[in-house]
Amino acid sequence: MRRALLLAAMLVLGSCKVQLTPEGLAKTWDAITDAQKDLTPENEYWTGRSVATNLLARHEYRYHDADALQDGRLEGATAYVSAVGGVLAASAMETTRKGDRPAPIAGWHFTIIESDTINAFAAPGGWVFVTTAAIEAAQSEDELAAVLAHEIAHVVRGHALGSIKKGRWANVAKTALDTSVQLDEQSLGELTQVFEGAMDDMIDGILVKGYSKDTEYEADRVGLEIMAHAGYDPQALVRYLKTLDAEQGGGGGGFQATHPKASDRISKIQGKAQELGKVEIPQVRFARFKAAVEEL
Ligand SMILES: [Zn+2]
Repeated sequence: MRRALLLAAMLVLGSCKVQLTPEGLAKTWDAITDAQKDLTPENEYWTGRSVATNLLARHEYRYHDADALQDGRLEGATAYVSAVGGVLAASAMETTRKGDRPAPIAGWHFTIIESDTINAFAAPGGWVFVTTAAIEAAQSEDELAAVLAHEIAHVVRGHALGSIKKGRWANVAKTALDTSVQLDEQSLGELTQVFEGAMDDMIDGILVKGYSKDTEYEADRVGLEIMAHAGYDPQALVRYLKTLDAEQGGGGGGFQATHPKASDRISKIQGKAQELGKVEIPQVRFARFKAAVEEL
């Protein structure tokens, strides 16, 4: 575990050959303090992979269509969700905003997780996950698109990376400065811990505590732009949130634990959804959505 985290740390820093000497550390420090704004797409890819692996392992999630995925094949509902997600991801890349993350270097990955909890989440670098319950709660492909577009928005706006506490970077800098000549066993341990902490920060944001309300409203707003540009009905987000509101009246995990109240989200985005207009959903979309849900 330690070794894996340190490796992840090195990858985040951009190279496996980070020199653990005073000069190397100075460079490392610069790289780390600039990391949030200057993460390269490669850094982001490896960070996202580590985050995705960690959060899936911690929650013992099971993939839908796991055998096919293991063989590198997209099948069944997973192929369908990936096709919808792919259209939205392309739309996200066409409707870029200032401060958006660059396109993921290994493309986007859309994976279904078998769970009775309505939820969806994403890790940096284009890893998007949606639960079977979240798909089943949707009434149409357009509502599923609303869920995926919201997650894509979290990725393009760098929300998970932004949840790494500022103090973390200061600790890394301190560890680096306190170290003479070479990183000894203890300093190496401290550095590893800092990255373990950064991983925890991101997982907290993604799946445990959630992001700030404003961050979620931003994901809704950007998600709306992405889905509208792709030709999906912006009103579908409002409809899906209404379902969430009705179903999540009481306590519960998933979206409810990590997102603002569905009714608050509706009132925040209703104006923008109206501004973007309404799309008449073609019958073919209903038919293929129904077929995909039947495969769950
Ligand atoms: Zn969200």
